[in-house]
Amino acid sequence: MSFSSLNLSPELLKAVQEQGYETPSPVQQQAIPAVLAGKDVMAAAQTGTGKTAGFTLPIIENLIKGKPAGANQVRALILTPTRELAAQVADNVSIYGQYTKLRANVVFGGVKINPQMMKLRAGSDVLVATPGRLLDLYQQNAVKFSQLEVLVLDEADRMLDMGFIRDIKKILSFLPDKRQNLLFSATFSPDIKALAKGFVNNPVEVSVSPSNSTAKTVQQIVVPCDKKKKSKLLSFLIRENDWQQVLVFTKTKHGANRLTRELDSQGIAALAIHGNKSQGARTKALAQFKAGETRVLVATDIAARGLDIDQLPQVVNFELPHVSEDYVHRIGRTGRAGAEGFAISLVCADELKLLEDIEYVIQQHVERKVEPGFEPVNALPSSRAIRPLKAKKPKKPKKNNSVGSQGNNVNSEKKPKLSPRTKPTAHKPRKKAVDKREPNTKKADPYAANR
Ligand code: AMP
Repeated sequence: MSFSSLNLSPELLKAVQEQGYETPSPVQQQAIPAVLAGKDVMAAAQTGTGKTAGFTLPIIENLIKGKPAGANQVRALILTPTRELAAQVADNVSIYGQYTKLRANVVFGGVKINPQMMKLRAGSDVLVATPGRLLDLYQQNAVKFSQLEVLVLDEADRMLDMGFIRDIKKILSFLPDKRQNLLFSATFSPDIKALAKGFVNNPVEVSVSPSNSTAKTVQQIVVPCDKKKKSKLLSFLIRENDWQQVLVFTKTKHGANRLTRELDSQGIAALAIHGNKSQGARTKALAQFKAGETRVLVATDIAARGLDIDQLPQVVNFELPHVSEDYVHRIGRTGRAGAEGFAISLVCADELKLLEDIEYVIQQHVERKVEPGFEPVNALPSSRAIRPLKAKKPKKPKKNNSVGSQGNNVNSEKKPKLSPRTKPTAHKPRKKAVDKREPNTKKADPYAANR
């Protein structure tokens, strides 16, 4: 299948071609026709599958046929859980829509609200927003929804994990009943299915891979080692393999800071990105990493969520995540869109249970390779045999369009680049930890306070 067979306008095809995409990815092949036809869509697709183009391309296509947004109005609203993801989705909208006259905006918290209010005045054909800031803007009459045509919940599972459910319900209560709804989620947990019930109508279901499957192009390895040797082992591996761009995950913000200092002191340029860093510092760190000025980016799960760094070759789990599904998200940073990637986990004896949980979720044992010179004193015991996943067929959501309401925030350091008009997981890990809304958190995650 080619992009030209998808009924997209020449303006969009030109933008897609300039990105070098040759064929639509599986999620795009399924989602684009459904969205173009005005259907509701419920898609199980994680970052790295091309999902963003899967919804932005057909949304733009539908929007260019209609009337531009009036003052303060929004025609397509895309809600994302984090500022970084909002900025990235807005970038995508700008790139794909660069040859159209649509106006796009992005709003998120953590930066001044006034410049956002000014930008929203002229209306937004597409608005990408995080829930809390959007509510603030709505309450200040900076944004109106009577012309809203389509709503997208991107990374809905993460939005729920971060405690955005009340905000989402409140936002839904402000929107016209007649609208198109698109729900994208990496996993379809019972909570997501419950949300979907009140959200999508008779949706087209799109699923590109079984939930929690890991990208096939990612080679995964566990390196057993002692906890105390991890940072030395990491710098050894970086030097030995001459890795130039490594994304390293730690469990906590303090752990990220500490590791960054240790790497720096060993002459390896590293920056940390986590919820305690200001938005400016995070954006700068990411830019430096993308530009190759910083060799290592040390991130917590929440900060790294949705980061799209082209062809990231190397991901390291300095510590295993407490939520097994986060492992899938982490290693989804590498081997994207068909590129080869390597994901290495440094695992000490204490982490055996976490490793077993992960192996259960991905339904495979990860190959182990001890690094000579770093043989662990506390050996990592063998993982137990993998039980088969309990098959849970996603049920079709019942028709029911009502959602209650309640309330809470988005923003744009990234300028919309559209030409201005003026121009499913079956397994519950034994401890279900939950990411928090940055920078706050709560629930049963023992590391929540430190993330
Ligand atoms: P996403 O899953 O939306 O985060 O996209 C992951 C990456 O795949 C991004 O870097 C996109 O630019 C890239 N991408 C999206 N669609 C395609 C395609 N059809 N062919 C190749 N790369 C793509």
